Amino acid sequence: MTGDEQSTTLSAVARLLSAAERALFITGAGLSADSGLPTYRGIGGLYADADTDEGMPIEEALSGPMLATRPELTWKYLWQIGSAVAGGRFNRGHEVMAEIERARPETWVVTQNVDGFHLDAGSKNVVEIHGNAGELECTACRERSTAQELLAGYEGEVPLPPRCATCDGLIRPRVVLFGEMLPDEAVARLGIALERRDLVLVVGTSALFPYISGPVMSARACGIPTVEINPARTELSDLVEHRLPMRAAEALERIWSPGA
Ligand code: NAD
Ligand code: ZN
Repeated sequence: MTGDEQSTTLSAVARLLSAAERALFITGAGLSADSGLPTYRGIGGLYADADTDEGMPIEEALSGPMLATRPELTWKYLWQIGSAVAGGRFNRGHEVMAEIERARPETWVVTQNVDGFHLDAGSKNVVEIHGNAGELECTACRERSTAQELLAGYEGEVPLPPRCATCDGLIRPRVVLFGEMLPDEAVARLGIALERRDLVLVVGTSALFPYISGPVMSARACGIPTVEINPARTELSDLVEHRLPMRAAEALERIWSPGA
């Protein structure tokens, strides 16, 4: 894409956004890459060409069956995610989406990210479809706690996998691991988020899950404008009406004029 083509697309998307009352943003790890959090796949992905230290794909290490059989291994990678989240903060891209929601209250975000940055940045209509890494739960007694409480309970390193202080059960984060079902509540909220959209923007995701690519495909089929923001191509790239091969924070900053 030439510089001219990019400017033309930026202007076209900015016009669509300023006219939209009910935009839907679908976001993935690439958005938080601009906060310094590594993605798994695509540009700058930790596991784009490699397996984990244990020689298995990250999807296997971070799966429900692996948590059940080798919880210490799953927790090793959960801990990496948690540490990156704890050391990071939302970026301009998250802020822009929160600003858009303040101006247009029917704006929604569906995110695959478990970092909580959309909520931290002030968005309220957020579906964290894969949960939130900061929320923990005992797999035996279901007692809930937070990552901060877990850290506060130990002077030095937290032994992995962490165990429940009440019943010694295995603690897990309230996130959807690979191979697990989406929680019913998230599915119900996803339904609300997808209702009556007038613009769909998919930002920083490799869009491998059908519940992520599906809404973009059906928007396209219904004539609702669709936009992809991602420096790399994905399976959605040929399908969307407008493609911005740019970093998320920069593209979002450039398509939104406050007061529009
Ligand atoms: P992914 O790692 O599969 O894909 C990331 C995508 O972002 C790629 O297409 C890449 O080209 C793009 N990208 C990289 N840098 C970008 C940037 N600066 N701006 C815009 N796009 C950029 O991530 P996914 O599609 O979200 O799916 C992977 C799964 O991993 C999800 O389930 C997610 O929950 C989880 N995950 C979450 C986090 C997080 O919470 N921040 C981080 C890593 C993985
Ligand atoms: Zn317990």
